[in-house]
Amino acid sequence: MFCPQCGSTHQVMVGNICKICFLKDFKLISIPQDIGITLCAHCHSQSKEGKWKDLGLSEEEIIYQALEEAIGVDDIVSDINIELEILQMRGSIAECFISTRGNVMGEDIEQEFHSNVRLNKSVCPDCSKYNSGYYEAVIQLRADKRPLSKAEIKTADKIIKETLNRMWVKSRMAYLAQRVEMKEGIDYYIGSQKAARKVISALRDVFGGVMKESPRLISQDKSTGKGLYRTWISLRLPEFQKKDFIKYDGHTGQVKSMNSKKIIAKDLETGQSIRALWKDYEQIKSSAKFSDIQISTITSKSPTEIQILHPETFQPVDLHIQDHMVDLEIGKEVSVIQIDGRIYILPDE
Ligand SMILES: [Zn+2]
Ligand SMILES: [Zn+2]
Repeated sequence: MFCPQCGSTHQVMVGNICKICFLKDFKLISIPQDIGITLCAHCHSQSKEGKWKDLGLSEEEIIYQALEEAIGVDDIVSDINIELEILQMRGSIAECFISTRGNVMGEDIEQEFHSNVRLNKSVCPDCSKYNSGYYEAVIQLRADKRPLSKAEIKTADKIIKETLNRMWVKSRMAYLAQRVEMKEGIDYYIGSQKAARKVISALRDVFGGVMKESPRLISQDKSTGKGLYRTWISLRLPEFQKKDFIKYDGHTGQVKSMNSKKIIAKDLETGQSIRALWKDYEQIKSSAKFSDIQISTITSKSPTEIQILHPETFQPVDLHIQDHMVDLEIGKEVSVIQIDGRIYILPDE
C-alpha cells in the first residue's frame, strides 16, 4: 500500500495512511486547554451540575481531580501512565502540566500537554447563610429558680462545641452563629434545626432538665409557599443539682444521678432508689442543698435507737436506727442533714 502523506510503501496502514504518519498526529489523551470549576471560597465545596457538594478536598486536590475528570484516553492506547503537575498559580488559574506515556500499536509514545484550570470562586448556600448570621434554632439554657453555675456553663459550652464540631464534617449548617450570655441564662443560636436537636440531646444526656420547644414562623417563601421556621428550644435545668436533697412522692432523698429521662435519688430513710421522670418535675420539691450538710456526733446507741447532738442546739436527738448506722460507734462524727425540721444521718460515701 502507498501512503499519500509520506509516500512510504512498506508500512502498516491505519485507515488510508501509514502507521508512522498516523502516530505523528495521534494524541495519547484528549484534554481541554481550559477547564473551569466552581468552588466555594470558604469551605471548598464544589458546584457540579447545579448541586453543591463538599468532598472535603484541598484546593490542590480539586485541581487534580478536575484534570483527571477532563482527560480522555483513546481505546487503542495501552499501558497508559499520566502524571499531573501544577506548574504555578496565576491568580485563580492553575497552569498545569501533564506528561503521558503509553503504548499504541506496539510503539511506546511519550507526550506532554498543558491545560489551565480556572477556579471560579463563589460562596456556597451554606456558607452564605453562615456569613449572614443565619440560624434556624435558639437553645435557651436556663436553671429553675437559680442562676446557672459556672461549672454548668463550662460543661454546656464544651458539649455544644464538641457536638457541632463532630457534625460539621458532614453538615456545614452545624455551627454556632451566636452565643448570648444573660442574667437568666445563655442563648445559643444554631445554624440548623437538625444540629440544634443533636446539641439538645447531648446536653440532656448530661444535665437532664425540662425541655420545651416553640417553633415560630419567621417568613414564607412566596413562590414555594414553604414557611421558614425558627425554633426556640428551652432547656431548664432543675433547681437542685447532684447531691442535693429532694422530696418526691412522700419520700425524701439525695440526688444521685440525672439523665435525659429521669432523676435518681437515694431515699434517706430506706436507702432505696427513688425515680422521678422529668415530666413530673413540678412535683419534685427541692428540699436542701449539698452545702447544707452539717456534722454531728453520736452520743448513745441502742439496738433500735441512735442518739446524736443537734448540730445547732446541741440538744440530744433520738433517731430510729437504720441498716447503715449499725456499725457507727459512740463518739463518731457523722454527716447530717435537716429537712423540714427532721434530722437524717447520711451514710458514709
Ligand atoms: Zn505515511
Ligand atoms: Zn461553602
